[in-house]
Amino acid sequence: MNDATSTCAICRNPSSTRVHPGCEERLDGNLGALPGLYRELEEHLAPSRRGESGRSGSRTAPLPVNERVLDLRARGGIEGVVTTWERDARETLGWEPAPFRGDVQQTIDGAVTFLRLQVSWFCDAHEAVFELAQDIRRVRSECEAIIGGDKPPRRIPVTCPCGTVLRITLDTPGARCPGCEAQYGHAEVLRLPMAERSAA
Ligand SMILES: [Zn+2]
Ligand SMILES: [Zn+2]
Repeated sequence: MNDATSTCAICRNPSSTRVHPGCEERLDGNLGALPGLYRELEEHLAPSRRGESGRSGSRTAPLPVNERVLDLRARGGIEGVVTTWERDARETLGWEPAPFRGDVQQTIDGAVTFLRLQVSWFCDAHEAVFELAQDIRRVRSECEAIIGGDKPPRRIPVTCPCGTVLRITLDTPGARCPGCEAQYGHAEVLRLPMAERSAA
């Protein structure tokens, strides 16, 4: 209970900051992946897609994944996870409740945008940042497991001049290098050279 040496609130490894910049970036990236995954899941509602044109390598067994997809795409699925955390944040901060944003897709988009703007605050101050990171990672991997090998997660490894590899998404608002702490904006980070792809 005594934090003489502090550990990262997310990965529990030693850290001089409450949360490693890299762990914060990963949380932000996982959040940022959810709206796109929600959209992609729509193609996976059908239980089997035999004989359909399109993707190679999609000779999937007719697994009953569609119910799970329905759950994830319903109110209370992905939407439930992100809106629960948004509500938590707004209550903790003493802010007004989230506005009505429309359908499930619009609600997810809005809640994710909100949460991404508060990622630093969660990492600096929120007592349940570990649970937040866990929830978001779990939802993301559940979606990706269903979507399967159709598309690789759109994370691009780029190399900072210091040699550290950053995994970014195309829509990243920016990134901080965990190696040298250089801070990159959106356009700058996309201009960094691509790194060798390694196992995700
Ligand atoms: Zn960490
Ligand atoms: Zn660097």
